[in-house]
Amino acid sequence: MIPQSQPCATAAPWQQLLAESITSAEELLQRLGLQSQLQALDPLQLKKFPVKVTASYLSKMRYGDAKDPLLLQVFPLIDEAYETEGFVADPVGDHQAVRQAGMLQKYQGRALLLTTGACAIHCRYCFRRHFPYSSSNPLASQWQQTLETLAADSTIKEVILSGGDPLVLSDQKLSSIIADLSEIKHIQRLRIHSRLPLVLPERITEDLCRSLSESRLNVILVIHANHANEFDEATAQALSALQQAGCQLLNQTVLLRGINDSADALCQLSEQLSVCGVLPYYLHLLDPVAGASHFDVPQAQGEALIATMRQRLSGYLVPRLVREIAGQPSKTIMA
Ligand SMILES: *Cc1c(COP(=O)(O)O)cnc(C)c1O
Ligand code: SF4
Repeated sequence: MIPQSQPCATAAPWQQLLAESITSAEELLQRLGLQSQLQALDPLQLKKFPVKVTASYLSKMRYGDAKDPLLLQVFPLIDEAYETEGFVADPVGDHQAVRQAGMLQKYQGRALLLTTGACAIHCRYCFRRHFPYSSSNPLASQWQQTLETLAADSTIKEVILSGGDPLVLSDQKLSSIIADLSEIKHIQRLRIHSRLPLVLPERITEDLCRSLSESRLNVILVIHANHANEFDEATAQALSALQQAGCQLLNQTVLLRGINDSADALCQLSEQLSVCGVLPYYLHLLDPVAGASHFDVPQAQGEALIATMRQRLSGYLVPRLVREIAGQPSKTIMA
């Protein structure tokens, strides 16, 4: 059972840091010396999907640079208000893939659990920015039913914890989820998709590493890094601890205009990943979510970037360029 959340007398230090995240766009700009950029903000988008940034992520942004590749990922530009044909609320067919509350299944052998709606930062390009988490995310109350569904379907070999960001859950909650899943014999792999090693490296506690390493499940952690500047010493140490705990580390990136749409940026990211023991997995073409069309990079440009990466990097440092197309039996590989 997932313990019901209860008032916690002693929040872990990382929970404190998470609670202290910056949620004011004005404060974000002020901390970067960019007050003059206030007019580039869209107050309406801000209300619909507020700013959220951790101190750790902020510390990796360049002071005074309005085009900083990390800032652009979290800053609600006025461009979000543009309506662009083909950019919709649910671009990847998540609604039709809901197998039961809190559980999506699109592909054979893998079930994806929406463990929480919360994240440590809010990424403006997020394809889940319009997803009704509050109604589709009652994992805690439906946990027994989820376990029964998983136990009754022996085709499911891998459970993917997603969200939101599953690592915002407490160590206690995560270890009970892992313990319950481990009891289902046919489940072999646990995959966790998280941005926390990059945006809140303090989250990677010894307790977390211990419960991952003690599990009989093969644990795969997919971090979502978009730029080499997202790495610093604390992130490198967090990733090293996860690797020592036996986790297989992979990365997926979203190809984003103005942020990482150059061969130099993508090659630097792959090199940085390799320094931290992480293999590039997917380079995603942007999901056409309403409000994010200003981040879109054409597919042909994505293909050309991959071709250049292939010339410059070891083969295993070149990610696969993919697009998620609703209704398809897998992600679609473009290059
Ligand atoms: C992307 C996704 C997966 C994982 O697909 P892989 O190609 O195995 O990485 C699984 N389930 C859902 C619902 C997904 O959207
Ligand atoms: S789900 Fe991922 S991409 Fe979306 S806001 Fe959360 S961390 Fe960012």
